[in-house]
Amino acid sequence: MLPIKQLKEVLAQPQKIVITTHHKPDGDAMGSSLGLYNYLIQKGHHVQVITPTDYPIFLHWLPNNGEVIIYTEQLENAQKLIAAADLIFCLDFNSLSRINEMGEWVAQSNAKKVMIDHHLEPDDFDDYRLWSVKACATAQLIYEFIVNEMEEPELLTKEVANCLYTGIMTDSGSFKFSNTTAEVHQIVANLIQKGAENHRIHQLVYDNSSENRLRFLGYCLSNRLEVFKEFNTAMISVPQSDLEKFNIETGDTEGLVNYALSINGIRLAALIIERPDRVKLSLRSTGDFPANEICKKYFNGGGHRNAAGGASDESFDEVVNQFKNLLPIYKTLLLQ
Ligand code: 5GP
Ligand code: MN
Repeated sequence: MLPIKQLKEVLAQPQKIVITTHHKPDGDAMGSSLGLYNYLIQKGHHVQVITPTDYPIFLHWLPNNGEVIIYTEQLENAQKLIAAADLIFCLDFNSLSRINEMGEWVAQSNAKKVMIDHHLEPDDFDDYRLWSVKACATAQLIYEFIVNEMEEPELLTKEVANCLYTGIMTDSGSFKFSNTTAEVHQIVANLIQKGAENHRIHQLVYDNSSENRLRFLGYCLSNRLEVFKEFNTAMISVPQSDLEKFNIETGDTEGLVNYALSINGIRLAALIIERPDRVKLSLRSTGDFPANEICKKYFNGGGHRNAAGGASDESFDEVVNQFKNLLPIYKTLLLQ
């Protein structure tokens, strides 16, 4: 592994750069990717953001979103760019399995790989690394990369600031999670000084639902929410037929799990969704309860202690039962 600071010299010359992030990118994934993109293009590099899959419409306003390539929609072009790159930035993930088939192309490319990430237990596929589980968002690390490592705070333009603000806002639960330190608020204050439009960004990301999405939320809370008081746990389970009935699109289920966690006394919340290809599980917890341990042990996934996810090839009903059957095993921790 090379010190990340050495990239300063590398980036002094024009490079062919690919930026990628995890599949089904969220606000931090896209805010980090386009934040870094808008920084790097000012330095004369050839930069391409490639996402493994599509992502929610409420992120499409991000500056230079129009330049993003979606791997599944432009296979050949994306593969060529990855193979020809000098540098590949891997943002907001630390295992190539998180970028699906694209991971094989990234692994095979002769490009130097740069991991900038805040998830636990990184795999070893990178040449340069800026990694901290203490960071509330990868966008926070991109800020530190530009300001502290590359020492170019003057390149934090309004476009970069808007992107990084979005990443920090979404991954910190609008500045409410426990890793939202004084330093994070200082970074955010700097971003606002640099032109980040905080009020506008909150509206664009959070007050931008379709009527359908809101009715789906109401439906899920009325019909699909189960509360297991004896385990301080709440679960929302959504079969595929509901997704079809409400015409649910990428991003429409984002944040749903947090409603289950917002019930008074709830320590563990689950959202289980029957997707066409597999059953997806999202867990959220409070305090020391290790949501990531459940995802890793039982659902081929992982994540942070309080926000984790996984997936299963079992049937929807089986996954729901599997989750319910885990609750007695974790009872002591759940009742702490
Ligand atoms: P979400 O529930 O929003 O899909 O994901 C929450 C967090 O869990 C993500 O930030 C990511 O860290 C983690 N996560 C979600 N799905 C997976 C998965 O399939 N594998 C791994 N390793 N982590 C996941
Ligand atoms: Mn993140």
